[in-house]
Amino acid sequence: MTSNNTNFLLGLTTGIALCSAAFTVYAATVINNVVKDNNNFQTITATAAISSTAINDSTPSPETLERLSSMFAINSDKLNQIVRHFVSEMKKGLNSDKSGLLMIPSHVVNLPNGKEHGSFLALDLGGTNFRVCEVLLDGHSGARVRQSKHTVTDEQKALPGDQLFDFFAQCVTNFLIEGLASPITNPLAEIAKRHWRLGFTFSFATNQVAIAEGYLILWNKGFSNSGVIGANVVQLLEAALKRAGLASITVTALVNDTTGTLVSHAYVQPSTRVGVILGTGTNCAYVEKIENITKYKNVDPNVKEMLVNTEWGAFDDEQVIVPRNKYDVNVDRSMNGMGKYTFEKLISGMYLGEIVRFVLVDLVKTGEIFSAGASPELKMPHSFETAFMSRIERDHTLDLSDTRTVLENMLKISRTTLADRRLVKSLCELVGKRSARLSAAGIAAVVTKMNKLDGCTVGIDGSLFELYPHYSNRMRDALREILGLSAEYIVLEQARDGSGQGAALIAALAEK
Ligand code: ADP
Ligand code: MG
Repeated sequence: MTSNNTNFLLGLTTGIALCSAAFTVYAATVINNVVKDNNNFQTITATAAISSTAINDSTPSPETLERLSSMFAINSDKLNQIVRHFVSEMKKGLNSDKSGLLMIPSHVVNLPNGKEHGSFLALDLGGTNFRVCEVLLDGHSGARVRQSKHTVTDEQKALPGDQLFDFFAQCVTNFLIEGLASPITNPLAEIAKRHWRLGFTFSFATNQVAIAEGYLILWNKGFSNSGVIGANVVQLLEAALKRAGLASITVTALVNDTTGTLVSHAYVQPSTRVGVILGTGTNCAYVEKIENITKYKNVDPNVKEMLVNTEWGAFDDEQVIVPRNKYDVNVDRSMNGMGKYTFEKLISGMYLGEIVRFVLVDLVKTGEIFSAGASPELKMPHSFETAFMSRIERDHTLDLSDTRTVLENMLKISRTTLADRRLVKSLCELVGKRSARLSAAGIAAVVTKMNKLDGCTVGIDGSLFELYPHYSNRMRDALREILGLSAEYIVLEQARDGSGQGAALIAALAEK
């Protein structure tokens, strides 16, 4: 722990150009405290009561930085403990539905060989966006995609379920009409002449009983539409398509974005065995030997492997292994599904900015930042977007001028000092780094469980992984701390359009 934390502290001190001997001595004291207290929540609360102010206008208070670092840093020992617990939760989940991770069998039993061909529709409900795609698989590992993208608003996330699905059907109607060669008087009749096969990427915990049949277990990512939990989401979609006059569309595959990502990345990179999402939410799917999925009955003797959706966002909902601080608890309490998907709430795009916001509001109260006080904007839930963190972490100007733009122009804080901006940047680094390290712990657990430490590719989709600076390097550092030399054989690759192309491929594989 000590060496890891020291590295972290060195990084932090360099980042804020603060190298005084006094700080180093102070840092050493705090490390000792952290060792003793093992990131304990009560201890953190007690420490938080210590108020401290910036040394001057350009240097944040070392005490504040130390306190925050003790709350958010996760050392190598802890990562290793998390990995061990993760593997045991995976095993429990494969054995029974009652404990551990959900480990949902996907019914996808083949990976593509590149020869899949045909035209498919794909729908993708992620968490932030809803996309409609037409995917043309050319039979030579190539695909062409036409798509439309729609934002799902907070209001839509709370509509009665039927109305949410009617919105999807409306988007499909518009998409197919736009795709017609020329405007015609009765476009729906024209569309109905063709039989369409559709892969539906529905990225929520679903009890999948067949390739095109699945029952929603619970919502996350801010969705709360009534009448969907416990229902077959394929049936809900087909009913809405029918209401919209699109009965010629058959939903032939229900896909999780993780399995879609795995399959679509395997289409271009055959060594892919794991698919990960790091976007609004986070989750992972991997290839498991069928004999290890002991809860899965009625196995076809020809089936050797199946993709399993771990639903790792709900890892450690019992809160026994991953350290959480009072800000994490605040975020959990303020969102739908309190106590659920608590691992996801430490990692994914929907929550990181909100964690930072809770910390900032608290630091204003203790007088440690923004002497002019918090703005109404900063006090508003979700006003601090995760994309702001990316922007701030990418700000390498001497006076952190882009960070100033975010804080003063976008969040309307009336005045910030350089010390304030440095503190915000360090805070983003702490929260962003913790996210990357925890997701790396998940990957380390999955490759350990698969016995694939000799090498495999992990396809990763989602805006957080794609756009957050240093994310992949931070994951890689954590993988090295956990797996040692074996980490070099685990390749992390950006996967593109897993949810569109992947859904089409799974629809194609379902016909084999
Ligand atoms: P979905 O999860 O709906 O499939 P994405 O993968 O695009 O969609 O993820 C969207 C999430 O990514 C947003 O909720 C936001 O939190 C996060 N995000 C968007 N832009 C950025 C960015 N520049 N840096 C980090 N995170 C981002
Ligand atoms: Mg997505």
